[in-house]
Amino acid sequence: MEPTYGDYDRDSVRGIDALRSALRDIHECDEYQEVVEKVAELFMNGHEGSSGYLSFGNNKIAKNVAIFNMNSATDCPNADTKACQVPWSDCYAHKAENQYDAPLASRRRQEYLWDCLDSETFARAFVRVIERKNNTVDAIRFSEAGDFRHDGDIIKVNNIAKMLEKHDIDVYTYSASYQLSWNEATHFTVNQSNDFADYGDRLFTAVQSDEELPENMVWCAYDVSDGEHKCGDCKLCINDEGPDVAVELH
Ligand code: SF4
Repeated sequence: MEPTYGDYDRDSVRGIDALRSALRDIHECDEYQEVVEKVAELFMNGHEGSSGYLSFGNNKIAKNVAIFNMNSATDCPNADTKACQVPWSDCYAHKAENQYDAPLASRRRQEYLWDCLDSETFARAFVRVIERKNNTVDAIRFSEAGDFRHDGDIIKVNNIAKMLEKHDIDVYTYSASYQLSWNEATHFTVNQSNDFADYGDRLFTAVQSDEELPENMVWCAYDVSDGEHKCGDCKLCINDEGPDVAVELH
């Protein structure tokens, strides 16, 4: 499937009506705390026909890190452009969306939910989710698939990060959206994935070999430990200070 850059028919997204119905129920709540609890429920368990809208860990990310996508890879603003380091045919997030129906529909519903929630409700519901979990969650990564679309995404994530700081939760992302106003990102860590502008806390890039590794750059811990140290165990990209990070160019 070719990139859409966000131009797709929302009404045709599988499960969108069930999400809209869940959001209408939330809108009718009289008490704000009830709104927060219901959004937390959506984050944890979703609605009829969906799973939860937050995930925790995967093969590269430890379970103490939550993941929320603001859009899909198919709709990514940087798909198949010079800003993205990965050729479109190699984008692993897009491959999953191409191969199966569920990931694309789920990420498009995530985008819809993201656009419907204000930052305070997002942050409060997130805190309720992690209070209910058995294991510690101390970080959230935005956009494992897709990327920041406009300055509003940066401002919203920043507001969420500011609120989550009080709960000792780190917020971080990787982005190739170099043209946006990243000076608004004062409360979360940005790993910039191209060098078209100086916009993040560090550069996260692909390097061919040890010989080509610049002095101020270290190899990704996950790569050099053969997957033993996951993101979340390793905090190199989560902390706002520290060296640039490289993954091996395949
Ligand atoms: S350096 Fe650490 S935090 Fe960054 S991608 Fe690798 S394992 Fe994850």
